[in-house]
Amino acid sequence: MKVLKFGGTSVGSPERMKQVAEIISNIKGRKLVVLSAVSGNTNKLVSISEKCEMGDKTSALGLLKELREVFNPFLDQLYEKKELREDTEKYIDQVMDDIEGLIDQPYSPQVNKMMVVQGELISTRMFTNYLKDRGEDVTLLMAQNFMTLDENDEPDMVMIEKKLEHLLSKTTSKVLITQGFITRNAAGGIDNLKRGGSDYSATIIGSVLKSDEIQIWTDIDGMHNNDPRVVEKTFPLAKLSFEEASELAYFGAKVLHPTCIVPAQQFGVPVRIKNTMAPAANGTLISDVSEGGGIKAIAAKDNITAIKIKSSRMVMAYGFMRRVFEIFEMYKTPIDMITTSEIAVSLTIDNNEHLPEIEREISKYGKVEIDKDQTIVCIVGDDIAEKRGLGKQIFKVLDDVPIRMISFGGSRNNISILIDSSHKKTTLQRLNGLFEK
Ligand code: ASP
Ligand code: MG
Repeated sequence: MKVLKFGGTSVGSPERMKQVAEIISNIKGRKLVVLSAVSGNTNKLVSISEKCEMGDKTSALGLLKELREVFNPFLDQLYEKKELREDTEKYIDQVMDDIEGLIDQPYSPQVNKMMVVQGELISTRMFTNYLKDRGEDVTLLMAQNFMTLDENDEPDMVMIEKKLEHLLSKTTSKVLITQGFITRNAAGGIDNLKRGGSDYSATIIGSVLKSDEIQIWTDIDGMHNNDPRVVEKTFPLAKLSFEEASELAYFGAKVLHPTCIVPAQQFGVPVRIKNTMAPAANGTLISDVSEGGGIKAIAAKDNITAIKIKSSRMVMAYGFMRRVFEIFEMYKTPIDMITTSEIAVSLTIDNNEHLPEIEREISKYGKVEIDKDQTIVCIVGDDIAEKRGLGKQIFKVLDDVPIRMISFGGSRNNISILIDSSHKKTTLQRLNGLFEK
């Protein structure tokens, strides 16, 4: 069994859906296909939900009307068989009615959760009916019937495996389709795996099924060695280890959802990133094998806030760090980078939601300085933190870039530096000169 995931742009138009169908039919064996919503749909649903929260039902209904129009070209271009077109149209209109029902309800977080997953319901039904129209033997499995989170909002792998194996045993179809992003939570309600979570759905499913390979089909030919939006002539990486790919996904490479590597790594299932527009290209293979020394890739993560706490009480004190960390824990705010000296500690966060409370609390322990608009530049490679001379090379090319923090040796695969975002472009371009040619 292979698990294949296609993202929003890959199913973003009738033409792209047709390409996806071709790709699927060229892959041998039984396959489970995970789909995102048509690109732009989830953003629209989030906006509708925001309007509901503000009590602006008129705008919510206006946006819903715009959403409905997106599907007309799909209905017009995908189906030759009248009954399949009709079934799809009826389903879409049913979903529209459901959303209208949600708009009518008093707003609550559960309304939001129900709202944002509707795009995946539509894309999977449209696509399943399109495959049926092509004469394929296909079954749609509803994610809410097997995807489930535990009390800690982590995927309940044991339960998912049990439910999914049961559903699979009841069908002989060669092609199975399901929704990414959608899950149930521990209380049984409809929930989601956070924005971009379809990748995570695919790796969870591929892992519990002990699939040969999880393929993430997207609109780029793999993970690149540097940020293609900032640096010219970047290239796709043929192979990465799970660790390297995790660091890159977490620190800014937009290709993969950051947590999606976790289950694949745990279950040892390789993940391949493929390009829908260039299906023959190898893409990037992420597995437990790491190859080559030196710098492999660079990624940048923006909107970082640096917090410095200076305290005389820190000198020779134990328990100080614990107290600081507890504040971040209390406000459920993860820390990305951390550096310390004898009298100060600097750390970074990427979520400012509770910054005022955090600032208030840590002020009790010392003088606090906050710098917003920072960027973490993450340099990844096998053993780079141990490779002699690399640090010198990095600092040499960055000799006139003010570096706010450095994290070196936290893992073998990563050196991270924090800079003001205004220096990001220069930093990424200069570092690009360090790739072994
Ligand atoms: N449709 C969801 C989103 O846009 C999930 C995904 O595409 O991965 O975030
Ligand atoms: Mg995505």
